[in-house]
Amino acid sequence: YRAKAAGGGFVFYQPEMSDGLVERMELAKDLGHALAAGALELHYQPQVNLDDGRAIGAEALLRWRDPQRGWVSPAVFIPIAESRGMIGALGKWVLGEACRQVRAWRDAGLAFPGRLWVNLAAQQLAEKGIVETIRATTRAAGVDSSCLALELTESGLMENVEGAIEIMDTLRRDGFSIAIDDFGTGYSSLAYLKRLPADKLKIDMSFVRDMLSDHHDYTIVTTIIGMARNLGLEVIAEGVEAQAQARALRALGCNEAQGYYFGRPEPAAAFAARWLAPAALPATVPST
Ligand code: C2E
Ligand code: MG
Ligand code: MG
Ligand code: MG
Repeated sequence: YRAKAAGGGFVFYQPEMSDGLVERMELAKDLGHALAAGALELHYQPQVNLDDGRAIGAEALLRWRDPQRGWVSPAVFIPIAESRGMIGALGKWVLGEACRQVRAWRDAGLAFPGRLWVNLAAQQLAEKGIVETIRATTRAAGVDSSCLALELTESGLMENVEGAIEIMDTLRRDGFSIAIDDFGTGYSSLAYLKRLPADKLKIDMSFVRDMLSDHHDYTIVTTIIGMARNLGLEVIAEGVEAQAQARALRALGCNEAQGYYFGRPEPAAAFAARWLAPAALPATVPST
């Protein structure tokens, strides 16, 4: 195996192309064992308001540390889980764990700001009873829908627009928030976008990364922010790694951001210590 330095301050296992089908099967099997053994965890990355640097929420990101491979990126194992019929069970665990964590923070007297954002895979949208699963999971944990939100990728939504619209409508009526993740990468037409009942657009980090050096990316970011404003949607930029990006985004009218510049995904305890205790601390955002 090769190891690749990756985000989050640790090294993710990197499967070789030649590892192929056998390695994918092995990976799926080991992932199943890890799920059953309670060896998966969620890490939490803050989302901040660019005006005052305060946390306005967090994204829950799935983490798997395999004894042999080390950290395996969700970008590797989520697609495998989807192709092997495991995403339902995996997604249920993620939802349950996210709700349990929100509840645990609250029980510990920590004010969790805003919402905890959980990623839903495209296939989960197609699952029968997904709305009921989400309702039941929050209910079981004693967590209100106003504490939770879902991130759906733009490409995932496009797989079944009509079905997605119905689920999104129902969830929003229940009080959950919904963001379109990786926005700008999914080829959705404006006609579809207009019909999607979302609360927020999440600008994909591929546009944010070079927005200050590549004027096409800058234009795309500007366009998405304007589009969100005109459609009455909130907007957040992901992958913000530098102060200059944060400043530029704010100047363009984007008030929310997420990225290594503000904080990396961290285990619950570290996240809480930095962001929730004793009261939400302001991040080191420049005054612009
Ligand atoms: P995503 O939902 O777009 O999540 C953002 C990814 O960007 C995360 O990668 C995060 O660690 C990374 N990131 C955050 N800030 C920065 C930054 O400033 N620079 C860079 N270079 N990266 C940054 P991660 O955790 O590896 O997750 C990758 C993808 O895997 C996620 O993309 C999401 O699509 C999927 N994923 C992760 N957890 C889950 C989950 O629980 N369920 C599902 N269905 N998918 C998940
Ligand atoms: Mg996401
Ligand atoms: Mg994203
Ligand atoms: Mg992504």
